[in-house]
Amino acid sequence: MSSEWTSAGPAPDMISSRLPTPGRGPHPERPRAVGGRVPHTPLRPTWCCRSDGQPWPCGEARLLLRLEYDGNNVGLTIYLAGMMYEAMRDLYHLNPHDGPEPSALFDRFVTWGISRRRPAVAP
Ligand SMILES: [Zn+2]
Repeated sequence: MSSEWTSAGPAPDMISSRLPTPGRGPHPERPRAVGGRVPHTPLRPTWCCRSDGQPWPCGEARLLLRLEYDGNNVGLTIYLAGMMYEAMRDLYHLNPHDGPEPSALFDRFVTWGISRRRPAVAP
């Protein structure tokens, strides 16, 4: 019995097994440590804050990241999206069957950092 895949090329599961594993994202090094204290950076692979144990980014990390990026909303959003990518790798590896929903991770990592544009000032 012949398979249509043998004449048309490899079966889909063989193709997907040949795809390269995506590379690592940015290193979670922000917000930077202040005054020698334990930084509010994520502990991998659980993505809890190494300073206070809260889910990262904790409230303090959000404040510090906003200060550190000082109006560079594009840079902050890119960093946060990179962190979400890294967290997905870790959390879905730890918990492949009932890990957090992607939308929940998007809200946790990215949505809070997207600043609302100020309404244009009328002349
Ligand atoms: Zn923290």
